[in-house]
Amino acid sequence: MRTGGLLVIGLLATAATALLHGCAADGAGGASVASGEEPVAAPLDEPLPSQAPYVVVLGTAQDGGLPHLGCERDCCSEARRDPARARRVTSLLMCDPRDGRRWLFDCTPDLRAQMELGRGHPATREMEGPRPPLLDGLFLTHAHMGHYGGLLELGREAYAVKELPTFVTPRFAAFLRANGPWKLLVEEQRLMLRELDPGIVIELAPDLRVRCFRVPHRDEFSDTVGFLIDGPNRDLLYLPDIDKWEAFDAWTPPDDPANGGIRSIEQAIAAVDIALIDGCFFADGEIAGRSMKEIPHPFIRESLERFAPLPAAEREKLFFTHLNHTNAAATVDSPAWQAVVGAGMHVLDDGRTFGL
Ligand SMILES: [Zn+2]
Ligand SMILES: [Zn+2]
Ligand SMILES: [Zn+2]
Repeated sequence: MRTGGLLVIGLLATAATALLHGCAADGAGGASVASGEEPVAAPLDEPLPSQAPYVVVLGTAQDGGLPHLGCERDCCSEARRDPARARRVTSLLMCDPRDGRRWLFDCTPDLRAQMELGRGHPATREMEGPRPPLLDGLFLTHAHMGHYGGLLELGREAYAVKELPTFVTPRFAAFLRANGPWKLLVEEQRLMLRELDPGIVIELAPDLRVRCFRVPHRDEFSDTVGFLIDGPNRDLLYLPDIDKWEAFDAWTPPDDPANGGIRSIEQAIAAVDIALIDGCFFADGEIAGRSMKEIPHPFIRESLERFAPLPAAEREKLFFTHLNHTNAAATVDSPAWQAVVGAGMHVLDDGRTFGL
Protein backbone atom coordinates (compact mmCIF):
# COMPACT_ATOMS: atom_id res chain seq x y z
CA MET A 1 0.00 0.00 0.00
CA ARG A 2 1.48 3.25 -1.10
CA THR A 3 0.22 6.50 0.31
CA GLY A 4 1.72 9.77 -0.88
CA GLY A 5 5.12 8.25 -1.51
CA LEU A 6 5.13 6.44 1.82
CA LEU A 7 5.05 2.69 1.38
CA VAL A 8 3.87 1.31 4.66
CA ILE A 9 4.74 -2.26 5.39
CA GLY A 10 3.73 -1.81 8.99
CA LEU A 11 3.77 -4.91 11.09
CA LEU A 12 3.08 -7.43 8.34
CA ALA A 13 4.80 -10.28 10.06
CA THR A 14 4.04 -9.42 13.66
CA ALA A 15 1.42 -12.10 14.00
CA ALA A 16 3.84 -14.69 12.70
CA THR A 17 6.56 -13.64 15.10
CA ALA A 18 4.77 -13.45 18.42
CA LEU A 19 7.03 -12.54 21.29
CA LEU A 20 8.67 -15.47 22.93
CA HIS A 21 10.88 -14.38 25.77
CA GLY A 22 13.48 -16.76 27.09
CA CYS A 23 13.91 -18.76 23.89
CA ALA A 24 17.32 -19.84 22.63
CA ALA A 25 19.53 -16.78 22.35
CA ASP A 26 23.01 -17.84 21.31
CA GLY A 27 24.98 -14.64 21.50
CA ALA A 28 21.95 -12.49 20.98
CA GLY A 29 23.61 -9.14 21.34
CA GLY A 30 23.87 -8.93 25.10
CA ALA A 31 20.14 -8.54 25.56
CA SER A 32 20.11 -7.66 29.24
CA VAL A 33 18.08 -4.48 29.64
CA ALA A 34 14.77 -5.13 31.41
CA SER A 35 11.80 -4.83 29.08
CA GLY A 36 9.87 -1.59 29.46
CA GLU A 37 12.99 0.53 29.77
CA GLU A 38 13.45 3.39 27.32
CA PRO A 39 15.69 2.66 24.31
CA VAL A 40 19.20 3.95 24.90
CA ALA A 41 21.85 4.85 22.35
CA ALA A 42 24.69 2.58 23.36
CA PRO A 43 28.19 3.62 22.33
CA LEU A 44 29.32 1.47 19.41
CA ASP A 45 31.27 -1.08 21.41
CA GLU A 46 28.80 -1.52 24.26
CA PRO A 47 26.33 -4.39 24.58
CA LEU A 48 23.23 -3.83 22.52
CA PRO A 49 20.05 -2.60 24.16
CA SER A 50 17.33 -5.24 24.15
CA GLN A 51 14.65 -2.67 23.42
CA ALA A 52 16.02 -1.05 20.27
CA PRO A 53 16.77 -2.36 16.78
CA TYR A 54 20.33 -3.30 15.86
CA VAL A 55 22.40 -4.55 12.95
CA VAL A 56 24.68 -7.61 12.89
CA VAL A 57 27.40 -7.50 10.21
CA LEU A 58 27.20 -10.92 8.51
CA GLY A 59 30.00 -10.32 6.03
CA THR A 60 32.55 -7.77 4.84
CA ALA A 61 34.19 -9.34 1.74
CA GLN A 62 33.77 -8.53 -1.95
CA ASP A 63 31.45 -10.85 -3.91
CA GLY A 64 34.05 -13.63 -4.20
CA GLY A 65 34.68 -13.87 -0.44
CA LEU A 66 37.95 -14.39 1.41
CA PRO A 67 39.54 -16.88 0.84
CA HIS A 68 38.75 -16.43 -2.84
CA LEU A 69 38.23 -19.27 -5.31
CA GLY A 70 41.56 -20.50 -6.65
CA CYS A 71 43.75 -17.85 -4.98
CA GLU A 72 46.93 -19.43 -3.66
CA ARG A 73 48.60 -16.21 -2.65
CA ASP A 74 49.21 -15.21 0.97
CA CYS A 75 45.96 -13.21 1.17
CA CYS A 76 43.94 -16.41 0.86
CA SER A 77 46.28 -19.18 2.00
CA GLU A 78 46.68 -17.35 5.34
CA ALA A 79 42.89 -17.17 5.67
CA ARG A 80 42.62 -20.89 4.94
CA ARG A 81 45.15 -21.61 7.69
CA ASP A 82 43.54 -19.18 10.16
CA PRO A 83 39.74 -19.01 9.76
CA ALA A 84 39.71 -15.87 11.94
CA ARG A 85 41.15 -14.09 8.88
CA ALA A 86 38.39 -15.31 6.57
CA ARG A 87 35.60 -12.91 5.61
CA ARG A 88 32.16 -13.73 4.28
CA VAL A 89 30.50 -11.74 1.50
CA THR A 90 29.08 -8.32 2.44
CA SER A 91 25.70 -8.50 4.16
CA LEU A 92 23.80 -7.18 7.19
CA LEU A 93 21.08 -8.62 9.40
CA MET A 94 18.85 -5.97 10.94
CA CYS A 95 16.96 -7.11 14.03
CA ASP A 96 14.15 -5.62 16.09
CA PRO A 97 14.10 -7.26 19.53
CA ARG A 98 10.86 -5.47 20.38
CA ASP A 99 8.84 -7.84 18.23
CA GLY A 100 11.32 -10.47 17.04
CA ARG A 101 11.46 -9.41 13.40
CA ARG A 102 14.60 -9.34 11.24
CA TRP A 103 15.57 -8.28 7.72
CA LEU A 104 18.52 -9.17 5.52
CA PHE A 105 20.46 -6.62 3.47
CA ASP A 106 21.94 -8.42 0.44
CA CYS A 107 21.57 -12.16 0.02
CA THR A 108 25.00 -13.65 -0.61
CA PRO A 109 26.36 -17.03 -1.74
CA ASP A 110 27.48 -17.38 1.92
CA LEU A 111 23.87 -17.25 3.13
CA ARG A 112 23.88 -20.64 4.88
CA ALA A 113 26.87 -19.82 7.05
CA GLN A 114 25.62 -16.28 7.60
CA MET A 115 22.24 -17.41 8.91
CA GLU A 116 24.17 -19.54 11.41
CA LEU A 117 25.96 -16.36 12.51
CA GLY A 118 22.52 -14.73 12.75
CA ARG A 119 21.12 -17.56 14.87
CA GLY A 120 19.46 -16.21 18.02
CA HIS A 121 19.16 -12.68 16.60
CA PRO A 122 17.03 -11.20 17.90
CA ALA A 123 16.53 -13.14 21.14
CA THR A 124 12.79 -12.55 20.96
CA ARG A 125 12.39 -14.25 17.58
CA GLU A 126 9.97 -17.16 17.38
CA MET A 127 11.97 -20.00 15.82
CA GLU A 128 9.91 -22.98 16.92
CA GLY A 129 8.09 -25.36 14.61
CA PRO A 130 9.36 -27.22 11.58
CA ARG A 131 9.81 -24.24 9.25
CA PRO A 132 9.58 -20.85 10.93
CA PRO A 133 9.86 -17.83 8.62
CA LEU A 134 13.55 -17.25 7.99
CA LEU A 135 13.27 -13.48 7.62
CA ASP A 136 10.68 -10.72 7.52
CA GLY A 137 12.13 -9.04 4.48
CA LEU A 138 15.05 -8.70 2.10
CA PHE A 139 16.68 -5.52 0.81
CA LEU A 140 18.94 -6.03 -2.22
CA THR A 141 21.41 -3.43 -3.52
CA HIS A 142 21.97 -4.84 -7.03
CA ALA A 143 22.22 -7.90 -9.26
CA HIS A 144 25.88 -8.87 -8.90
CA MET A 145 26.46 -12.40 -7.67
CA GLY A 146 27.64 -11.52 -4.18
CA HIS A 147 24.51 -9.51 -3.47
CA TYR A 148 21.72 -11.78 -4.69
CA GLY A 149 23.33 -15.17 -5.47
CA GLY A 150 22.02 -16.49 -2.13
CA LEU A 151 18.44 -16.22 -3.38
CA LEU A 152 18.96 -19.72 -4.81
CA GLU A 153 18.95 -21.03 -1.21
CA LEU A 154 15.41 -19.70 -0.76
CA GLY A 155 13.82 -21.78 -3.51
CA ARG A 156 12.06 -25.13 -3.52
CA GLU A 157 15.31 -27.11 -3.52
CA ALA A 158 16.32 -25.63 -0.16
CA TYR A 159 14.53 -23.42 2.41
CA ALA A 160 11.43 -22.76 0.26
CA VAL A 161 10.49 -19.43 1.79
CA LYS A 162 6.91 -18.23 1.50
CA GLU A 163 5.93 -14.69 0.48
CA LEU A 164 9.12 -13.01 1.61
CA PRO A 165 8.87 -9.23 1.01
CA THR A 166 11.85 -8.41 -1.24
CA PHE A 167 12.70 -4.75 -1.78
CA VAL A 168 14.42 -3.99 -5.08
CA THR A 169 14.38 -1.24 -7.69
CA PRO A 170 11.85 -1.55 -10.54
CA ARG A 171 14.64 -2.51 -12.98
CA PHE A 172 15.93 -5.23 -10.65
CA ALA A 173 12.35 -6.47 -10.12
CA ALA A 174 11.78 -6.68 -13.89
CA PHE A 175 15.01 -8.69 -14.24
CA LEU A 176 13.97 -11.15 -11.52
CA ARG A 177 10.49 -11.57 -13.04
CA ALA A 178 11.80 -12.18 -16.55
CA ASN A 179 14.79 -14.46 -16.05
CA GLY A 180 15.36 -17.96 -14.73
CA PRO A 181 16.22 -19.25 -12.24
CA TRP A 182 15.00 -16.19 -10.31
CA LYS A 183 11.60 -15.98 -11.97
CA LEU A 184 10.56 -19.29 -10.45
CA LEU A 185 11.01 -17.71 -7.01
CA VAL A 186 8.64 -14.96 -8.08
CA GLU A 187 6.11 -17.22 -9.83
CA GLU A 188 5.90 -19.53 -6.81
CA GLN A 189 5.40 -16.49 -4.57
CA ARG A 190 8.50 -17.23 -2.55
CA LEU A 191 9.67 -13.66 -3.11
CA MET A 192 7.05 -10.89 -3.08
CA LEU A 193 8.77 -8.12 -5.02
CA ARG A 194 8.27 -4.63 -3.58
CA GLU A 195 9.58 -1.90 -5.84
CA LEU A 196 11.71 0.67 -4.15
CA ASP A 197 12.78 4.00 -5.57
CA PRO A 198 14.61 6.95 -4.03
CA GLY A 199 11.96 9.03 -2.27
CA ILE A 200 9.97 6.00 -1.08
CA VAL A 201 10.23 5.32 2.64
CA ILE A 202 9.68 1.76 3.87
CA GLU A 203 8.27 2.03 7.35
CA LEU A 204 9.06 -1.21 9.21
CA ALA A 205 8.02 0.34 12.55
CA PRO A 206 7.11 3.95 13.39
CA ASP A 207 10.75 4.56 14.42
CA LEU A 208 12.46 2.20 11.95
CA ARG A 209 12.51 3.18 8.29
CA VAL A 210 14.55 2.30 5.23
CA ARG A 211 15.07 4.32 2.04
CA CYS A 212 17.46 4.10 -0.88
CA PHE A 213 19.40 6.23 -3.34
CA ARG A 214 20.94 5.25 -6.67
CA VAL A 215 24.65 5.16 -7.39
CA PRO A 216 26.67 4.60 -10.57
CA HIS A 217 27.97 1.02 -10.85
CA ARG A 218 28.43 -1.67 -13.52
CA ASP A 219 24.71 -2.14 -14.04
CA GLU A 220 24.47 -5.11 -16.43
CA PHE A 221 21.22 -6.58 -15.07
CA SER A 222 19.93 -4.07 -12.52
CA ASP A 223 20.68 -0.59 -11.29
CA THR A 224 22.45 -0.16 -7.94
CA VAL A 225 21.36 1.49 -4.69
CA GLY A 226 22.69 2.31 -1.25
CA PHE A 227 20.35 2.03 1.75
CA LEU A 228 19.75 4.51 4.56
CA ILE A 229 18.33 3.00 7.75
CA ASP A 230 16.64 5.45 10.09
CA GLY A 231 16.53 3.93 13.59
CA PRO A 232 15.15 5.27 16.89
CA ASN A 233 18.61 6.33 18.14
CA ARG A 234 21.00 6.03 15.20
CA ASP A 235 20.94 6.09 11.41
CA LEU A 236 23.09 3.80 9.28
CA LEU A 237 24.29 3.92 5.66
CA TYR A 238 24.92 0.69 3.73
CA LEU A 239 26.73 1.30 0.42
CA PRO A 240 28.82 -1.74 -0.53
CA ASP A 241 29.27 -1.04 -4.26
CA ILE A 242 29.87 2.14 -6.26
CA ASP A 243 32.19 2.89 -9.20
CA LYS A 244 34.08 5.92 -7.85
CA TRP A 245 33.11 8.79 -5.53
CA GLU A 246 33.91 11.24 -8.39
CA ALA A 247 31.68 9.28 -10.77
CA PHE A 248 28.85 9.81 -8.26
CA ASP A 249 29.60 13.57 -8.08
CA ALA A 250 29.35 13.87 -11.85
CA TRP A 251 26.32 11.61 -12.27
CA THR A 252 22.64 12.42 -12.53
CA PRO A 253 20.33 9.46 -11.93
CA PRO A 254 18.39 9.14 -15.20
CA ASP A 255 14.83 9.08 -13.85
CA ASP A 256 15.07 11.01 -10.58
CA PRO A 257 17.56 13.89 -10.47
CA ALA A 258 16.86 14.49 -6.75
CA ASN A 259 17.90 10.90 -5.89
CA GLY A 260 16.23 11.03 -2.47
CA GLY A 261 18.36 14.06 -1.57
CA ILE A 262 21.67 12.18 -1.91
CA ARG A 263 23.98 13.41 -4.69
CA SER A 264 27.40 12.78 -3.13
CA ILE A 265 29.00 10.43 -0.63
CA GLU A 266 29.49 13.33 1.80
CA GLN A 267 25.73 14.01 1.79
CA ALA A 268 25.06 10.36 2.57
CA ILE A 269 27.60 10.38 5.42
CA ALA A 270 26.13 13.59 6.83
CA ALA A 271 22.68 11.96 6.92
CA VAL A 272 23.74 9.12 9.25
CA ASP A 273 25.68 8.17 12.39
CA ILE A 274 27.34 5.03 10.99
CA ALA A 275 28.46 4.67 7.35
CA LEU A 276 29.38 1.23 5.95
CA ILE A 277 30.94 2.04 2.57
CA ASP A 278 32.72 0.48 -0.39
CA GLY A 279 36.37 -0.25 0.45
CA CYS A 280 36.85 -2.95 -2.20
CA PHE A 281 40.48 -2.27 -3.08
CA PHE A 282 43.20 -0.57 -1.09
CA ALA A 283 45.16 0.82 -4.04
CA ASP A 284 45.66 0.67 -7.78
CA GLY A 285 47.66 -2.27 -9.11
CA GLU A 286 46.69 -4.80 -6.45
CA ILE A 287 45.13 -7.20 -8.96
CA ALA A 288 47.95 -8.69 -10.97
CA GLY A 289 47.24 -9.33 -14.63
CA ARG A 290 43.89 -7.54 -14.76
CA SER A 291 43.03 -3.93 -15.53
CA MET A 292 41.35 -2.34 -12.54
CA LYS A 293 39.51 0.03 -14.91
CA GLU A 294 37.15 -2.87 -15.75
CA ILE A 295 36.08 -3.13 -12.14
CA PRO A 296 35.99 0.43 -10.82
CA HIS A 297 35.57 0.98 -7.07
CA PRO A 298 36.95 3.75 -4.86
CA PHE A 299 40.41 2.74 -3.65
CA ILE A 300 40.65 3.09 0.12
CA ARG A 301 43.78 5.20 -0.48
CA GLU A 302 41.63 7.63 -2.54
CA SER A 303 38.92 7.59 0.13
CA LEU A 304 41.41 8.44 2.90
CA GLU A 305 42.53 11.42 0.84
CA ARG A 306 39.01 12.51 -0.05
CA PHE A 307 37.69 12.26 3.50
CA ALA A 308 40.77 13.75 5.19
CA PRO A 309 39.29 17.29 5.21
CA LEU A 310 36.09 16.09 6.95
CA PRO A 311 35.76 16.85 10.66
CA ALA A 312 36.91 14.00 12.93
CA ALA A 313 33.29 13.27 13.90
CA GLU A 314 32.40 12.61 10.23
CA ARG A 315 35.46 10.39 9.65
CA GLU A 316 34.68 8.45 12.84
CA LYS A 317 31.41 7.29 11.21
CA LEU A 318 33.21 5.52 8.34
CA PHE A 319 33.70 1.75 8.14
CA PHE A 320 35.12 0.21 4.95
CA THR A 321 33.46 -3.01 3.82
CA HIS A 322 33.17 -5.16 0.63
CA LEU A 323 36.91 -5.88 0.90
CA ASN A 324 38.52 -7.74 -1.99
CA HIS A 325 40.75 -10.67 -1.03
CA THR A 326 43.71 -8.69 -2.37
CA ASN A 327 42.96 -5.71 -0.10
CA ALA A 328 45.84 -5.31 2.37
CA ALA A 329 43.50 -3.52 4.82
CA ALA A 330 41.57 -6.79 5.22
CA THR A 331 44.44 -7.96 7.45
CA VAL A 332 44.03 -6.48 10.93
CA ASP A 333 47.12 -4.54 12.05
CA SER A 334 48.72 -4.54 8.57
CA PRO A 335 50.21 -1.19 7.45
CA ALA A 336 47.15 -0.62 5.21
CA TRP A 337 44.78 -1.32 8.12
CA GLN A 338 46.87 1.02 10.30
CA ALA A 339 46.62 3.73 7.64
CA VAL A 340 42.80 3.56 7.83
CA VAL A 341 42.73 3.68 11.62
CA GLY A 342 45.38 6.40 11.68
CA ALA A 343 43.13 8.50 9.42
CA GLY A 344 40.34 8.26 12.00
CA MET A 345 38.26 5.69 10.07
CA HIS A 346 37.66 1.94 10.46
CA VAL A 347 37.84 -1.36 8.63
CA LEU A 348 34.60 -3.27 9.25
CA ASP A 349 34.75 -6.78 10.71
CA ASP A 350 32.36 -9.72 10.36
CA GLY A 351 30.21 -10.12 13.47
CA ARG A 352 30.31 -6.46 14.49
CA THR A 353 27.02 -5.11 15.84
CA PHE A 354 25.60 -1.59 15.79
CA GLY A 355 22.68 -0.39 17.90
CA LEU A 356 20.22 1.72 15.91
ZN1 LIG B 1 29.83 -6.42 -4.85
ZN1 LIG C 1 43.62 -14.03 -2.35
ZN1 LIG D 1 28.65 -4.88 -7.78
